[in-house]
Amino acid sequence: MPSAPNLQEAVAEIAAEMRDRPDRGDVATYIPELAKIDPARFGLCVVDTTGAVAAAGDAEEPFSIQSISKVFTLTLALGMSGDRLWSRVGREPSGSAFNSIVQLEHERGVPRNPFINAGAIAVTDVILSGHQPREALGEILRFVRFVSDDESITIDKAVAASEQRTGFRNAALANYMKSFGVLQNPVDYTLGVYFHHCAIAMSCRQLAMAGRFLAHEGRSPTTGLSVVSPQRARRINAIMLTCGHYDGSGEFAYRVGLPGKSGVGGGILAIAPGKASIAVWSPGLDAAGNSHLGRIALEKLSRRMGWSIFG
Ligand code: GLN
Repeated sequence: MPSAPNLQEAVAEIAAEMRDRPDRGDVATYIPELAKIDPARFGLCVVDTTGAVAAAGDAEEPFSIQSISKVFTLTLALGMSGDRLWSRVGREPSGSAFNSIVQLEHERGVPRNPFINAGAIAVTDVILSGHQPREALGEILRFVRFVSDDESITIDKAVAASEQRTGFRNAALANYMKSFGVLQNPVDYTLGVYFHHCAIAMSCRQLAMAGRFLAHEGRSPTTGLSVVSPQRARRINAIMLTCGHYDGSGEFAYRVGLPGKSGVGGGILAIAPGKASIAVWSPGLDAAGNSHLGRIALEKLSRRMGWSIFG
């Protein structure tokens, strides 16, 4: 019988291979603060469901998680509203760019899914209702700290301010949704909370820890405490698989075979259900705004460990 592949060895070898590659993609520049990041950074961390951690490269360095935060806001909003959330946002892949506005016109301002920008702004608006922006943001940060078991996680205020100054496209999306009555709070408040949760800074290790509940039927593998029901964890994974990489979601499913959520900071959180939570960071992006080497590293890791959900 072939022996099980060694996880730490696989992680170290893949990280070393990625560091030597010249094809890194381009760092996002539309958020000026993100343009300053060195494209040569690379981090990879895996936490398996027994609690074993394997890490390599810049796995301890915090980076801007950007749209990966949308996994946590979706989880939180489902906890607050349950299935009523689905009247405010759909759950179909968009097949368009993360910041696209076109589909909103056809669907009366209801975004296609919670992971494109419009959908995540609608989800943020649900979390904000009945709260001050500061409270809503505190709630999101508390949740992220809770699932990662790490009180040191913070928001990078410079990144939030940078996006607040230049986020005209998101302002357009929010105003457009507001015109259909899909947003209930003042647009500035909702956008402020959205920009700040996108600016949460986490290392690959912290992010892999945060994803454990999705790999472990909704429970924390260390404390056994339930974060969400097993069914909800499965459903969040389903949305990550179908929508987590925007119009690159099909390609990610085809190549990696795992639910995943990317961010324009170059991070990806991927879940191997029942097996592991994986975080990778490489700031250079492909044409769809997903980490170029991050995806390649996950493809190699998933294949080597036999983790594809398609068997
Ligand atoms: N904060 C970013 C934006 O709204 C998040 C986008 C992303 O990570 N894909 O544009």
